[in-house]
Amino acid sequence: MLAETTNDPQAIAQIREAVRALCAKFPGAYWRGLDRERAYPTEFVRALTEAGFLAALIPEEYGGSGLTMRAAAAILEEIHASGCNGGACHAQMYTMGTVLRHGSAAQKARYLPGIAKGTLRLQAFGVTEPTSGTDTLGLRTQAVRDGDHYVVNGQKIWTSRAEHSDLMLLLARTTPREQAARRTAGLSVFLLDMRAVRDNGLEIQPIRTMMNHATTEVFFDNMRIPADSLIGQEGEGFRYILSGMNAERILISAECIGDAKWFIDRAAGYAKERVVFGRPIGQNQGVQFPIARAYAQMRAAELMVSEAAALYESGRDCGAEANMAKLLAADASWAAADMCVQTHGGFGFAEDFDIERKFRESRLYQVAPISTNLILSYLAEHVLGLPRSY
Ligand SMILES: Cc1cc2nc3c(=O)[nH]c(=O)nc-3n(C[C@H](O)[C@H](O)[C@H](O)COP(=O)(O)OP(=O)(O)OC[C@H]3O[C@@H](n4cnc5c(N)ncnc54)[C@H](O)[C@@H]3O)c2cc1C
Repeated sequence: MLAETTNDPQAIAQIREAVRALCAKFPGAYWRGLDRERAYPTEFVRALTEAGFLAALIPEEYGGSGLTMRAAAAILEEIHASGCNGGACHAQMYTMGTVLRHGSAAQKARYLPGIAKGTLRLQAFGVTEPTSGTDTLGLRTQAVRDGDHYVVNGQKIWTSRAEHSDLMLLLARTTPREQAARRTAGLSVFLLDMRAVRDNGLEIQPIRTMMNHATTEVFFDNMRIPADSLIGQEGEGFRYILSGMNAERILISAECIGDAKWFIDRAAGYAKERVVFGRPIGQNQGVQFPIARAYAQMRAAELMVSEAAALYESGRDCGAEANMAKLLAADASWAAADMCVQTHGGFGFAEDFDIERKFRESRLYQVAPISTNLILSYLAEHVLGLPRSY
């Protein structure tokens, strides 16, 4: 188990070292094998769970490590900088935040200790739907109260890790859009125990994607769930989900920074060793400048991730910074990925070098968990005061 820490640089350095040591046991060959089969990294997730890393943000009173957002970000960054991928389990770290902030005392006591131990997996987050996409307020999944239960009908898409999770945080409409008191009212959050309803109102179908991501489509057909699955107040779910999204954006930004560091390290290493025309390719400015540019871009993004995490820890509004961190870090990792393929020439495409795999993995962050355009729209409207565009 990890010891509680502040943002003391020495404590963070120790965490980074411990994560690196763990990741060293899961080399490229491990990830390549899983990638070919589109298989879940069970052993890696187990090792992270047993080391307490996935319980970083759960307070100690519930059995977690009570670490800071910057410490949690350091864990995910190191996983990615080591060539591993936290996508299979990163949501176990932050999805519980909605329960922690908005759940009842009984819900927290019932779920958080198990989530902290890893005996209970809460790493599925059901928001996106096929017909509404980014327009979350347009979602159609409905939960209708029926005595001591809600009856849920509808469909989600891109519900990642649903097959590897016991619980799902589900966003559904409880008041028809036209009857809601406010534009953002009428959606509710449920902590859905999938074990109780699997194949009894709940169906999960995997979606094969360009990278190994364990994502799924989820169907609800008259799914009956106990009324006490509701988190917080009925109709306030959109607000609860938004507050959790800042944590998600910061932590995924940290993963992008880790990816960028991995690509830069690989490219610089290769450029020093690969000899063509009788000298290392890295002696040519045409090869070294893109690496240097990717480094500068990564460092700038890293500063924004750190600022967003610090603001989050202080309890102040970090919406703009969390969004900018995600935008800049995703751009930095994608630019570094492209540069790394180019630096490696043909070998950038060879499976054994892991670069093509990481390249495919890092493309996702231009689209999910929020797409670049939507971040730009947010900044235009909420920071620059431009007219709302959608
Ligand atoms: C591998 C993967 C895992 C995911 N995991 C999850 C998960 O666990 N849970 C979950 O709920 N969701 C998940 N998502 C969904 C993800 O959050 C969405 O794909 C993303 O938010 C974009 O939504 P969309 O795919 O519906 O695109 P759309 O909303 O259809 O948009 C398509 C394109 O149009 C652009 N666009 C749309 N509207 C505008 C506008 N007004 N102005 C400018 N551009 C616009 C978008 O930026 C995007 O590039 C995942 C997605 C993927 C691919």
